Amino acid sequence: ENGTTKNFIENFIEEDFKSNRYGQRFVTRFPPEPNGYLHIGHAKSICLNFGLAKKYGGVTNLRFDDTNPTKETVEYVDNIMNDVKWLGFTWEDRLHFTSDYFDTLYDYAVKLIKLGKAYVDDLTKEEMKEYRGTFSEPGKESPYRNRSVEENLRLFEEMKAGKYADGEKVLRAKIDMASPNINMRDPVIYRIFHHEHHRTGNKWCIYPMYDFAHPVSDAIERVTHSICTLEYEDHRPLYDWCIQDWDDPEGQLPRQIEFARLNVTHMIMSKRKLRILVEKGIVSGWDDPRMPTIAGIRRRGYTPEAIRDFCDRIGVAKADSTVDISLLEYCIREDLKLKAPRLMTVIDPVKVVITDYPEDKTEVLTAENNQENEALGTRHMTFSRTLYIDRKDFMEEPVKKFFRLAPGKEVRLKYAYIIKCEDVVKDADGNIVEIHCTHDPESLSGSGANANRKVNGTLHWVNAADAVDVETRVYDYLLNGADEEEEEGTTSKDFLDQINPDSLTVYQSKAEAALAGYKAGDHFQFLREGYFVIDQDSTPDHMVVNRIVGLRDTWAK
Ligand code: ATP
Ligand code: MG
Ligand code: MG
Repeated sequence: ENGTTKNFIENFIEEDFKSNRYGQRFVTRFPPEPNGYLHIGHAKSICLNFGLAKKYGGVTNLRFDDTNPTKETVEYVDNIMNDVKWLGFTWEDRLHFTSDYFDTLYDYAVKLIKLGKAYVDDLTKEEMKEYRGTFSEPGKESPYRNRSVEENLRLFEEMKAGKYADGEKVLRAKIDMASPNINMRDPVIYRIFHHEHHRTGNKWCIYPMYDFAHPVSDAIERVTHSICTLEYEDHRPLYDWCIQDWDDPEGQLPRQIEFARLNVTHMIMSKRKLRILVEKGIVSGWDDPRMPTIAGIRRRGYTPEAIRDFCDRIGVAKADSTVDISLLEYCIREDLKLKAPRLMTVIDPVKVVITDYPEDKTEVLTAENNQENEALGTRHMTFSRTLYIDRKDFMEEPVKKFFRLAPGKEVRLKYAYIIKCEDVVKDADGNIVEIHCTHDPESLSGSGANANRKVNGTLHWVNAADAVDVETRVYDYLLNGADEEEEEGTTSKDFLDQINPDSLTVYQSKAEAALAGYKAGDHFQFLREGYFVIDQDSTPDHMVVNRIVGLRDTWAK
C-alpha cells in the first residue's frame, strides 16, 4: 500500500460516498475489550480506523467493549487510552463505553421480544449446543422457542431483576435453526451474570453478548463503517440482523467490513496467552520489552512513527497471512537512522592497555553524533592509556577473515589511533583480562601523517577513565522458531513449550561518558551494535539500556 493505489476497504468507502449511502458522514470506531493490554495487532486496527477517518474527513470513536465484567478492569481501560494516545491518535469527546448503553440495549432487546424476534430459553448450555446442530445437519428448535411475547417479556424482566441464577435462562434471537450459517441458529443475545461491573457496579445481572452489543452500539453511535477482523465474516448476517429494527434518524445503518488480522512471526497475538506469560512470571509484566504489547514495544524502544510506518507498509488484506518480524525491525531502524545520536558503548568489555601511550596523558577527540546527519553535531570523547573494547572484537587464535584485533594484528580505534596487539594477560583460569597494544602516533584520525593509513578493521571503544557503567539488556525472540503462534484452540501448554528460555541476556557494559547526559526513553545507535533505548529502570547511579534491534538482520531465516 503506497498511498496511490486503494485498498479494498477504501474502495467500499468511496462507493458509499458515490451512492450517498451515508451522505458526507464517515464514522469508524476502535472497540477494544478492556481485558488486557493492547498489542501490535490492535495497533494495526487503530492505525486503520483512525487513518481512514483522517483520509476521508471523518471521525473515530474509542469505544470500550465492556460487556464481560469478569475479565475487565479500570487498569486496562487506562492503559489502553494511554497506548492509543501514544500511537498518535486522539478521540477528543468521542470516548464511549458499551456499558453506557446497557439501558438502551435492554430497551432494544425488549423491542425485539415484542416483535416476536427474541425469546427466553431455559435450555442448559450443553443442551443448547446439542440442539444447535453441526455444519452438515440443521439444528433443532428449543421447546421454549414459541413462548408468547407476554411470557418472554415477563421472564426477561425477571432475569434483569435477579430472579434467576447464572446460566438458568438466556435471551436468544429467534432467527433460523436450519440456517446453513450456524451463527444464525438463534444465538444467545443476553446472559445472566451475577458479577459486579467496573463501571455499572451491581446495577445489572444480565449482560448483552458481543454479537448483539457490538452492532447495536455501532448503530447507537451512528458508525458508518464497522471494520473488524476476518473471524467475524460469518457473523456479518447476524450483525445486519441485529440492527434491522434499529431506528436511525436517517435510516443509515452501519456496515461491517472485515480484513485479515495481523500476525507477526515470533510474536504472540492473543491477550489470553499474553496474560498467561504475565501470570506465570515468564515475563516481568505486560510492559516487558519482549512482549508484543504496545507497552512492551514502547519500553523496548520502538517509536510511534515506526509502528505507524509498519502498519502502513503491511497494508490491509482480505486473506490471513503472517508478516515477518524483520519488517518491524526495518521500520525502527529507518526511523532512528537519522534521528538517533550514535555513541560508543562496549557491551562486553575487556581492558586494553596502550603500553606506549603516556600514563598521565588524556586527549580530547571530536566525534560526529551521526555520520549520516550532520545536523546532530559533534561531541567530545577522551582517549588515554587504558581503554575497553568488546570481547568479541578480539581472538587469540583468529579464524579466517577475522578482521578485528588479534596478536600481531592492527586495527583502527574509531576517531583515534591504529593500535597493534602485542600481548595478552590472563588470570589463573586462563581468561583474558588485559590486551596489551602499542599505537601508531601518526595515525590519529583527521590528522597525522598516517591518518588515512588503511587497516582491515575499525573498532569501537571507550576510555576507562570516564566510562559510564551500564547494564545492557539484549533480547531474543520470546517464541522459538520462525513460526508464528500456533492455531487458536491448542492448549496453553503447547504454546508454553514454544517459549525461548534464553530470550534475555544481561551484560555489564561500559559506555562513553556522553551517555550520562541522556534520560529514560532516549534512543541511540551504539556504533557497530545496534539501536538502544534507556530503560525506565535506570537510576542516577545505575543506567539500564535495552537493545531495540541489531544494526541489520542477523537472524537466520
Ligand atoms: P485478542 O484475541 O488478543 O484478545 P481481540 O480481538 O479479542 O484480541 P479486542 O480488544 O476485542 O481484542 O480487539 C479490539 C479491536 O482490535 C477489534 O476490532 C479487533 O478486530 C482488533 N484486533 C485485535 N487483534 C487484531 C489483530 N491481530 N490484527 C488486527 N486487528 C486486531
Ligand atoms: Mg474481542
Ligand atoms: Mg480475544
